[in-house]
Amino acid sequence: MNFEVPPLPYAKDALAPAMSAETLEFHYEKHHKGYMTKLKTLLEGKAEANKSLEEVIRSSSGGVFNNAAQVWNHTFFWESMKPQGGGAPSGEVASLIQRDFGDLDAFKQQWVTAGLDRFGSGYVWLVLEGGKAKILSTANAETPLTTAAVPLLTTDLWEHAYYIDRRNDRAAFLKVFTEELLNWDFVAANLKKAG
Ligand code: FE
Repeated sequence: MNFEVPPLPYAKDALAPAMSAETLEFHYEKHHKGYMTKLKTLLEGKAEANKSLEEVIRSSSGGVFNNAAQVWNHTFFWESMKPQGGGAPSGEVASLIQRDFGDLDAFKQQWVTAGLDRFGSGYVWLVLEGGKAKILSTANAETPLTTAAVPLLTTDLWEHAYYIDRRNDRAAFLKVFTEELLNWDFVAANLKKAG
């Protein structure tokens, strides 16, 4: 395993004002890299250190699972956003959203509701399961990577994702994610990979 987190796909101030540089500074430098540092310590001298991150996530539990999954989930979350994101999807993604959610507004509404309904920390996900797109949420570090569902998009629901910018207002954070940050190109790329 490469024990470095990938670089952020944009500058730390590139998502402002929807997400501030200060939020990304703490979230990426302290939280994301912190999970990797803990994982590296936990796997030091162990055979699992030679596995890929995905293999470790699928075959571990406890602290190793939590830190490995948090590393993977955060990399996926950064890719789920882009500067001047939001807007409407096109092509196959647009068709998928229309087929499985009715329309884009219904999708966004379900995204916000699923995020608000998750008690405590976790993630909201768009996944492809049995050929159908659906929204689900997971607790703490849990990730669809350990299931048959293919992750297409995520929002981090941990308070550290929004407290600096939005204080306790998770709803405002989820709304700004769908309106100004959501990276539909990433959804399209994941959908293509899923075949
Ligand atoms: Fe986080």
